Amino acid sequence: MKFYSTNKTVPSVSLMEAVIKGLASDNGLFMPERIEEFHPQFFKGIHRMSFQEISFEVANKFFGEDIPEQVLDEIVFDSLNFDCPIIRISDQIYSLELFHGPTLAFKDVGARFMARILAHFLKGISKEVNVLVATSGDTGSAVANGFLNIPGIKVYVLYPRGLVSNIQEKQFTTLGNNITALEVDGTFDDCQRLVKSAFLDQELNDDMVLTSANSINVARFLPQAFYYFNAYARLHETELNSDFVFSVPSGNFGNLTAGLFAKFLGLPVKRFIAANNENDVVYNYLKTGKYEPRPSVATIANAMDVGDPSNFVRILDLYNHSHRDICTDMVGYRYSDDEIRETMKQVYTEKKYMLDPHGAVGYRALKADLKPGEVGVFLETAHPAKFTETVEEVLGKGTVILPEKLSAFLKSEKLSFGISADFADFKDYLLNN
Ligand SMILES: *Cc1c(COP(=O)(O)O)cnc(C)c1O
Repeated sequence: MKFYSTNKTVPSVSLMEAVIKGLASDNGLFMPERIEEFHPQFFKGIHRMSFQEISFEVANKFFGEDIPEQVLDEIVFDSLNFDCPIIRISDQIYSLELFHGPTLAFKDVGARFMARILAHFLKGISKEVNVLVATSGDTGSAVANGFLNIPGIKVYVLYPRGLVSNIQEKQFTTLGNNITALEVDGTFDDCQRLVKSAFLDQELNDDMVLTSANSINVARFLPQAFYYFNAYARLHETELNSDFVFSVPSGNFGNLTAGLFAKFLGLPVKRFIAANNENDVVYNYLKTGKYEPRPSVATIANAMDVGDPSNFVRILDLYNHSHRDICTDMVGYRYSDDEIRETMKQVYTEKKYMLDPHGAVGYRALKADLKPGEVGVFLETAHPAKFTETVEEVLGKGTVILPEKLSAFLKSEKLSFGISADFADFKDYLLNN
């Protein structure tokens, strides 16, 4: 299958090129040329399939022409070796828990899958690839752990000194091997600028193969469609006659866009809810039809602090830029930090369910939007222990129990290399290592 650029000024490329390059050369995002619906029969028997079996069928739609069946099967089973269970919160509301992977957040799914797809393509070119990733916390840990010990790939995680939580920092600075953590004397924006400058630097690109691993990469964002199908499959028997609504806590909109792809593949979803914190440019777009990016503002759901969501162009492209059609499939909600805290407290007290700040945004929007006869699923994108400080501030000291996976990271020693926010410093480091 070929992948075209959302800017449509350059020719389509192969899957391999789309995965290795990440971004099209006209700065557009890659999109699959075809989205073929599943036969309705597929959905009748889907409840008999496991998460991995379902994921293979979905992966096959996008990657099947370019990756041998046996290899794709191995990639799926190897990367998705954890569960995405669905938990009943009330009669109408379910939580899709996406935090049972190694770093306890949903980004594990895409990062682990992408690492293996990239490794498969690298076998053909016998060159080492360098993955550069700027992180404000969660992306760095998912990518570092997803790519750990994958042959032929080196990962450089750039993060702002003193601006990520201790737990987050430990998850990408303790791994060693092919993972290098670079502690930048600057902000997250500086880290992003350094990575962008590296991609544009001719001398660096002549010397080494550089790629990115954020949700602009098709191999990282498309696998996120898998768990929407899984949620449907697990609900299929008990809630067969209901209309399904998905609520997605959103930042860069990779997760929600993958949900829309699931719908285009035929998954019967009535609508999606774009649940935002105070970074509400998409919320405003849905209200007014005008897209006006702004600098991000800091909130307690910080993985959603994005002022110009990169995957929004994919949504526009899917719907041929029709505001009306987008609004048929999507509604928006937006909540302040106080409202997020209030929801975390209420759900913990009344339903005995601990939400993390991101999931709380999804839950609240779903609760507000559901109509009688509908069944709603919100994506619980991270384990509350990843945000222990915030959660305990709201629910009380000692309420969060640290899972074994996280305490193991905390016990290991931090290894990082300090660099300035000056590009020359970063470039020097890359050329000499
Ligand atoms: C990354 C992230 C989000 C936002 O996902 P997008 O795909 O960027 O919209 C939400 N919650 C958590 C916990 C995250 O890490």
